[in-house]
Amino acid sequence: MKNPLGTMLSRLRSVFDVPDEIAPERYRMLRRKITLLMTAVSVLPLLILTAVSYHQYQSTLTREIVTPVRALVNKTRHSFELFLAERSSTVSLLAKTYSMAELSDEKNLNRIFLALKGEFPGFVDLGVIDGRGVQVGYVGPYDVRGKNYSEADWYNRTRVKGVYISDVFMGFRRFPHIAIAVQRMNPDGSSWMLRATIETTQFDRLIASMGLDPESDAFLINTAGVLQTNSRFYGNVLDVMPMPVPHLSYEPSIIDTEDPEGRQIFLSSAFLQNADFAIVAVKPKTEILRPWTSLRSDLLIFVAFSVALIISAAFGFTDMLVRRMRDSDERRIAAFVQIEHTQKLSSIGRLAAGVAHEINNPLAIINEKAGLAADLIALSQDFPQKERFSAIVEAISRSVDRCRSITHRLLGFSRRMDATYEQLDVNGILKETMSFLEQEAVHRSITIGTSLDAGLPRITSDRGQLQQVFLNIINNAFAAVQDGGSVTLTTFAADGGMVGVSIQDNGKGMSEEVQRHIFEPFFTTKKTAGTGLGMFITYGIIKRLGGEIGINSREGVGTTVTVYLPQDAPAPQSLEN
Ligand code: ADP
Ligand code: MG
Repeated sequence: MKNPLGTMLSRLRSVFDVPDEIAPERYRMLRRKITLLMTAVSVLPLLILTAVSYHQYQSTLTREIVTPVRALVNKTRHSFELFLAERSSTVSLLAKTYSMAELSDEKNLNRIFLALKGEFPGFVDLGVIDGRGVQVGYVGPYDVRGKNYSEADWYNRTRVKGVYISDVFMGFRRFPHIAIAVQRMNPDGSSWMLRATIETTQFDRLIASMGLDPESDAFLINTAGVLQTNSRFYGNVLDVMPMPVPHLSYEPSIIDTEDPEGRQIFLSSAFLQNADFAIVAVKPKTEILRPWTSLRSDLLIFVAFSVALIISAAFGFTDMLVRRMRDSDERRIAAFVQIEHTQKLSSIGRLAAGVAHEINNPLAIINEKAGLAADLIALSQDFPQKERFSAIVEAISRSVDRCRSITHRLLGFSRRMDATYEQLDVNGILKETMSFLEQEAVHRSITIGTSLDAGLPRITSDRGQLQQVFLNIINNAFAAVQDGGSVTLTTFAADGGMVGVSIQDNGKGMSEEVQRHIFEPFFTTKKTAGTGLGMFITYGIIKRLGGEIGINSREGVGTTVTVYLPQDAPAPQSLEN
């Protein structure tokens, strides 16, 4: 069974599969991948968090806004119910208190009507209708005495329900009214009704008391959606509301919808319990959600800013990281190459020294035997070819000497030397060395330039060996320049308390190939004229004295050899051990 976390990790690791070699492509890829990952890891949670809080805030806000609207609708509904209940119970009380006969008497009816109007200002008329539907008593602005209502809708409804509150209608002087009718029984079993008409100006006052802002609206409708009061936006009284009638519910309900003008609105409604009316309140969403919209834009700015910050930080950080990585990779590889080179040189040096050492003994024997042969020839009497023999033996001795000088020089590279360290002035040694070569310089009209740092610190090192180093390098420079060329010697204080000496020539320069092999023994481009040991020995000495040597050369332009020497040469030791 595979571990899912393990596979995920390995997949993640495979994202970082980039080529190993130090190619620009590797670092470009690394940079891209790290930046992407860092951005994703930090931006994603931010976005999720933002989205979650966005929704949470929105729903909280909606709830907070919707609740008061609901409460307001509920309160207003109660006010309407109270208003209608008061009126209908008053009419009911009159019908219970007085008999039809008493009320049919106009004088009585008039007195009662005046008293009623005194208590409740909205009453417009009061009428008594007998069991056949005929108006038998009336006080009010109309002349309706004797009118038969038996076919009227309200009459029949009242007969069924006992108490009836009509829809709003345009009545006297084109004012909206409602009618309230109550049915009673005469002692003889026949029925009669008391009917009152009431102005609905009070409705407008109830709506006004809701204290709505100018963007909002509230009105009363009947079950058919006909407006029972004027609406601010959706028509006047008796117009049909241009929106679907909310479903019947006595508890205030709220819906999220759109009005005919395309405004997003919250529509809250509740039906009255004692009449077929519903109170409707409309709040535009824009108004309600204004604080939300401003917060949303703040939030957007904040998120955009954060994302920008994260991305630029990721970019900057990754850039720095990858650059450091590349630098250290490059340094590591350079160091590697350097170590390889040093090791190669030291093993070549050991080999050369070993060969020289092995050859030394047979050379000594040859030398001894040749000396013996020379002595024998000298002591013996003349014999044929005696001259030739002694010439041959001499030639052998000369060759042996030459071999010995080579083996000695080779051994000098690695042998533990009796170093004689002393306080030295590098400038002085350079000048001294130059004096050996003055003759040749004059002869070949080579210009010697010097730029010696007078404040150069003195160093502890070996005078003879340094002379040899400088002589080798300057000799090479002389060999490289044409007659009339120039060689410049410079000394300077280098980093880490080192003393720097550079020998610059404007000679033929070196190819890369030559530069690679310059420190190897017997490497020369000078055919018969060179031994190829000069730079090999120079390198050995400088290493032994704790210094460094660098070559900077361009073919056809010239060469600068720079030697760095420490203030104090390390205790003598050979490269052999
Ligand atoms: P040699 O001088 O006997 O040839 P060296 O070890 O001194 O041996 O130098 C090795 C080779 O390095 C030279 O043959 C030459 O090709 C090259 N070389 C050294 N110094 C210089 C220089 N200043 N300008 C051009 N080539 C140089
Ligand atoms: Mg040389």
